Amino acid sequence: MAKGKINVAVENIFPLIKRFLYSDHEIFLRELISNATDATLKLKHLASIGEYKGNVDDARLEVKIDKKGKKLHIIDQGIGMSQDEVKKYINDIAFSGAEEFLEKFKDEKNDSGIIGHFGLGFYSSFMVASQVEIHSKSFRDEDEGAHWTCDGSPEYSLKKSKRTDRGTEIILHIDEDSLEFLEESRINELLNKYNKFMPIPIKFGTEEVADPAHEPKTIKDKEGKETTEPQKMITVDKIINNPNPAWTKQPSDLKDEDYSSFYRELYPMQFEEPLFHIHLNVDYPFNLTGILYFPKMATNMEMQKDKIQLYQKQVFVTDNVEGIVPDFLQMLRGVIDSPDIPLNVSRSYLQADGAVKKISSYITKKVGDKLSSLFKNDREVFEKKWNDVKIVIEYGMLSEPKFFEKAQSFALYPTTKDAYFTIDELKEKVAAAQTDKDGNLVVLYASNKDEQHGFIEEAEAKGYEVLLLDSPIISHLIQKLETENEKVKFVRVDSDSIEKLIQKDETQISKLSDEDQGKLKTYIEEIVPKEKYSVQLEALDSKSNPFIITQPEFMRRMKEMQQTGGGGMMGMGAFPEMYNLVVNTNSDLMQKIIKAKGKRTEYINQALDLARLSQNLLQGKEMTEFIKRSYHLMNN
Ligand code: ADP
Repeated sequence: MAKGKINVAVENIFPLIKRFLYSDHEIFLRELISNATDATLKLKHLASIGEYKGNVDDARLEVKIDKKGKKLHIIDQGIGMSQDEVKKYINDIAFSGAEEFLEKFKDEKNDSGIIGHFGLGFYSSFMVASQVEIHSKSFRDEDEGAHWTCDGSPEYSLKKSKRTDRGTEIILHIDEDSLEFLEESRINELLNKYNKFMPIPIKFGTEEVADPAHEPKTIKDKEGKETTEPQKMITVDKIINNPNPAWTKQPSDLKDEDYSSFYRELYPMQFEEPLFHIHLNVDYPFNLTGILYFPKMATNMEMQKDKIQLYQKQVFVTDNVEGIVPDFLQMLRGVIDSPDIPLNVSRSYLQADGAVKKISSYITKKVGDKLSSLFKNDREVFEKKWNDVKIVIEYGMLSEPKFFEKAQSFALYPTTKDAYFTIDELKEKVAAAQTDKDGNLVVLYASNKDEQHGFIEEAEAKGYEVLLLDSPIISHLIQKLETENEKVKFVRVDSDSIEKLIQKDETQISKLSDEDQGKLKTYIEEIVPKEKYSVQLEALDSKSNPFIITQPEFMRRMKEMQQTGGGGMMGMGAFPEMYNLVVNTNSDLMQKIIKAKGKRTEYINQALDLARLSQNLLQGKEMTEFIKRSYHLMNN
């Protein structure tokens, strides 16, 4: 039996390991299972090139709890280690690896980034164990088994092991303060979190299942009634993982059902089907596989709990993909697996890393390509799904210039009548009717079909198309579209009177004399609150409403942009709540207002309230007064 001392440069590495990333103690299991998986894959590789003749097809891992003995076992049937190899790999290489890792990160343990996800390796077991044993037997028949023990001091013992089966068993003597790792539910939770898609089957416990070899027969009970005999149950090993998850397969081998069943495997609590999926698959200049799903988006952009998961070679790393996946795609779900993402680094480093930048722009490009082909191949389906995905696409158009370019061909602009146009189609469609006297193409839109009903109706009666644009970030997008498309202006239907929304060269003729117009303006301004409404007389169609409240496009849009953030709007101060009160001088009501003496105030207030009502601006006390006045007018 050999006794030895691990070469310690960092004084007392074990207490350091213990303290390391307190909340991350659980990663020891992932590290040990990764080692066991690697050892098995190495042996499989040797078998594939004829260097090993034994059977590797059924190789699997096992995790076992010995509650009484306070031990946790991690067992593999992999390549194994001889005594010399234990000395070399565990005492020297693994140790110096852990040492280097701690040296590098002991001051950064609070970085909430990816640091700590990988690298500590075998020695992370000392975060939860007071003693660790290794029983190992190399795949080479001639090598003897090795038994290594270490109690957390730099001393270890290494002797012959009686083990004859190929592979390695790691035994953790769980520390008093880590007894949670002897709970089946806790281990189950960890295996499910980190190892759900590891490439080698992992056994954890057993389960009762219906015997597949036994078909229950129809029998007669005592009274002669027909019943089905009870199902025969058998005990089988419980395999907790799916070693061949969909993303590791070729897209050509998968059907739509496979993608949706994998979605449910990833998010068992999600009952809604995803709208579409994108299979990522590159190996040059970096390696990346994965499947992204577009879920049905809620427009209120609620905090989502089911996020994209990042894997490395089928080992779960994190579901915080900030910096790796562009912001706008973080609303998607699915899996990304890439060994090329450096993990032992801080977030800021990650964002500056060239390889990571390439990955991020590759993902953006793939998503753009997929959307483009969906649009081209089945426009009808794409249109149906548009409202559920537009928020992602619009956000992408705003934040990624390359995506904006690509989206020109598939971004849709729906009308209030459910027609969907691309920007080019839209321009062509409205050019004739909606070009103003200065040659600007005026695109009319509404944000809410019900609230702006009257305005929409009037615009449509004039033969205009009205878009329905209701995303929370739409004001930013409109602003960008105007910059990118020369001589195109977006104007909301309620931002001016119908005649002025799209100004043509026609002169308006007013029924009122200049003198009457002057009087009318004074009467109205005496009553209407000045700080809120600026009164404008206009000679509109006599059938148009007498009073119309509008809010200039620019002012409203700036206010909306300020509310939804970004875009250099900060520090501009709050925009005042100002409206225009358009007074239609051709409406018959104006004659009445000018002539009526006793009732003038009542008429003006009533017309103002009706205009407010059509803009959803009437509330509280004003609403109560309006109702009273309306009854009063009916009785007089
Ligand atoms: P890493 O896995 O990053 O190399 P570790 O500290 O986890 O670092 O392990 C060090 C080395 O010990 C491994 O590279 C491997 O050679 C050996 N090793 C660890 N666990 C096993 C195992 N279960 N079977 C065979 N070899 C192992």
